[in-house]
Amino acid sequence: MKIDYDLLVREAIKSLGCFYGPDTNSRYIYGSAVLTDKGNVYSASNYSSDTASLTLHAEQAALSHAASHNDARIVAIAMVGKEDPKGEKLCHPCGICKQLIWENSLKSGIKVKVVMANLKGRYTVKDIKKLVPYPWPD
Ligand SMILES: [Zn+2]
Repeated sequence: MKIDYDLLVREAIKSLGCFYGPDTNSRYIYGSAVLTDKGNVYSASNYSSDTASLTLHAEQAALSHAASHNDARIVAIAMVGKEDPKGEKLCHPCGICKQLIWENSLKSGIKVKVVMANLKGRYTVKDIKKLVPYPWPD
């Protein structure tokens, strides 16, 4: 499958506008978009809680969005964030999200591509296996 990384990054950036949370001016707003093996794209922003610990990360929400359409076999996942006011820093998935992406890859047998992007649309792509060198389960 040919992966349109530019499209996926654009969808992740667009999803920043769907942020749910108390502070829409927060630097901690993230967006994510997944491409499934059916060719569909599902995106989400983080779903923020006042408790912080209950916040759903954008990647978690995007994975759940795909699964809620019975379309959870992920080929690629992109993420962006507003942490860097200049919009230049590439957004990397946190440890929790890397674990979820890894588990998705393990279940589907697909080598999921992780697309770490910035707000200007620049990105780098790595296999999830490279980001989780000693995975559990394996
Ligand atoms: Zn995360």
